[in-house]
Amino acid sequence: MFLIDSHCHLDSLNLSTRSIDKVLQDALKNDVKHCLSVATTLSGYESMRQLLTPYQKQCSLSCGIHPLNLDDEQYDANRFETLARQDNVVALGETGLDYYYQQDNIELQQTIFKEHIRLGRKLSKPIIVHTRSSKQDTLKILKEEHVHSGVLHCFTEDIDTAKQLLDIGFYISFSGIITFKNAEALREVAKYVPIDRILVETDSPYLAPVPYRGKENQPAYVREVANYLSILKGVTLDIIAQQTTNNFCQLFNLQGKLNE
Ligand SMILES: [Zn+2]
Repeated sequence: MFLIDSHCHLDSLNLSTRSIDKVLQDALKNDVKHCLSVATTLSGYESMRQLLTPYQKQCSLSCGIHPLNLDDEQYDANRFETLARQDNVVALGETGLDYYYQQDNIELQQTIFKEHIRLGRKLSKPIIVHTRSSKQDTLKILKEEHVHSGVLHCFTEDIDTAKQLLDIGFYISFSGIITFKNAEALREVAKYVPIDRILVETDSPYLAPVPYRGKENQPAYVREVANYLSILKGVTLDIIAQQTTNNFCQLFNLQGKLNE
């Protein structure tokens, strides 16, 4: 079996208690053979790249600035492009809009979101989108900018939003939230989204799935997400693994590039 954690923040794990080596070994033991580690600032990207250099086969990278980190560093378009061009960077992000935690810089969030979209188009790299309490503006910008290649990560929106994203060609990524007790509405969305448009993720170190809630999340646990999804979809875990791995390779242009 070949599972992929399509979205994690390996540099944010508590590495004082266990090494990155151990984390990735534990992932392998659960058939999680590849991870996409996602940056949230450009400086964070640079140190994450260093951390993961010995693990280039098992980890791809995404380069970008999270909408809640825009105050952390001055935006530098040249620096962003230089870093985003580096090999092993398969996507831009995570980017997007978050009006839940921050509303005093909405214009800036939208501007930088568009910067990610335009650079992604220039470099032929898809975008990884975060949205919270901002689905209307997120959809509006994606449509206005004619975006067709990307993923809405850690999906928690409704069926209508999923439908609009599928219509523009987006993938939808489900996290451990689908295993949470109060997530019935989200489970309905997961049943609705076609299996050839789904990715699975942990968003480690956040959002550990049942039965690990309260613990630090890690890529190994994406197996729980995939397993839960297989039950919702009424198919085997093998089929979910195969399909979500195919989808991942399709979206991030990695067909034939991930070895066992
Ligand atoms: Zn994330």
